[in-house]
Amino acid sequence: MRELIAAATEARLRAYAPYSDFLVGAALLTSSGKIYAGCNIENSSYSLTCCAERVATASAIADGHQNFEALAVVSVNGSYPCGACRQFLNEFTPDLLIIIADTHGKISAETTLSALYPSAFSPDSLEP
Ligand SMILES: [Zn+2]
Repeated sequence: MRELIAAATEARLRAYAPYSDFLVGAALLTSSGKIYAGCNIENSSYSLTCCAERVATASAIADGHQNFEALAVVSVNGSYPCGACRQFLNEFTPDLLIIIADTHGKISAETTLSALYPSAFSPDSLEP
């Protein structure tokens, strides 16, 4: 998982966050072993901001991957994915391993998406 954290740490430095100055990097490991990284991308129209977790996931999906093993999220204080990202990730891998680390590489949590986001709305929720 060190490789995943390193990829997230590197991506964090590419964040575009002139409004919050809160840089986040994420790296997603696919079931086939590839790593896709993302950073947060803010916008002057604040609600258009994209989180690092969703950028990494979108990049992986655009490259043909929909099955994931783990996600590392790196920020200065080791913060957790927001609710929107939890919902976004739940669509693909409810039991995704989530690794939370800070910019010093200190891992503050290893958990699962299902633990962070129980009773999620999922594709099954649309079944009659
Ligand atoms: Zn988010």
